[in-house]
Amino acid sequence: SPPTDDVLSVEDLSKRFGGVSAVAGCSLSIQRGTITAIIGPNGAGKSTLMNLIGGLFPPDSGRILFAGRDITALPPHRRAELGLIRTFQISRELAQLTVFENVVLAGQTDALESPFAAFLRPRQVRREERQLGLRARALLERVGLFRLADEPAASLSGGQKKLLELARALMLDPQLILLDEPAAGVSPPMVRELARTIRDLRDEGLTIGLIEHDMELVADLADRVHVLAEGSNLTSGSFREVTSDSRVVEAYLGI
Ligand code: ADP
Ligand code: MG
Repeated sequence: SPPTDDVLSVEDLSKRFGGVSAVAGCSLSIQRGTITAIIGPNGAGKSTLMNLIGGLFPPDSGRILFAGRDITALPPHRRAELGLIRTFQISRELAQLTVFENVVLAGQTDALESPFAAFLRPRQVRREERQLGLRARALLERVGLFRLADEPAASLSGGQKKLLELARALMLDPQLILLDEPAAGVSPPMVRELARTIRDLRDEGLTIGLIEHDMELVADLADRVHVLAEGSNLTSGSFREVTSDSRVVEAYLGI
């Protein structure tokens, strides 16, 4: 097939849960260097699609291509190694650690975690840890959390936690970051800060995919929007284009 600018594409993807078709013949793509939003009414299949892309469970049929490679059968950690990262909420255990420790841990490679780490020369381990620390500091600066580096993650506001999730994802040097409702539970001033950071990252060449209910944020950020309804891609275009499409209005109103 000819080369494209798509970093991710899903082709005719389907997933059923018992009798429910959560994702049904969905095809869409995310172009490199864009912020691409996936919107749609409740139950449209957005979270299931995100889980399929992340590799949480396999599709019943269809393919997922990442950077030109078929990743449909790869487990989540292999997708992450290739540069496909989705953010996750900071778990209860991680909340006890500091903001800095959270970011360092996100970047820790298998080499340091494996039982063979004991056989690595201590100098090598120290060097790797120092590099992780420097990188973590730089990323905390990047997302505006540096002054909170030594605070427990649990003490952060909702919006600051989203920025921390972003810094953790960036430790893995992603090509594509998938954000699931980044504005949920975030105060309006922090939504603006988050939006600015996301836009800056896009301008620096990162590709960002997001599921979001906050239509103001989607209008503000998204270069391209895919509208999901009943498990498949109803239409795609700019925010203005898709929201002036009568089929989209009908899907949201449930007509
Ligand atoms: P959205 O995120 O757009 O609200 P979801 O992907 O969560 O949509 O859900 C799509 C459909 O699949 C819904 O009808 C939902 O009830 C159903 N569904 C999602 N996950 C499961 C599951 N684990 N088991 C059974 N049904 C599910
Ligand atoms: Mg959902």
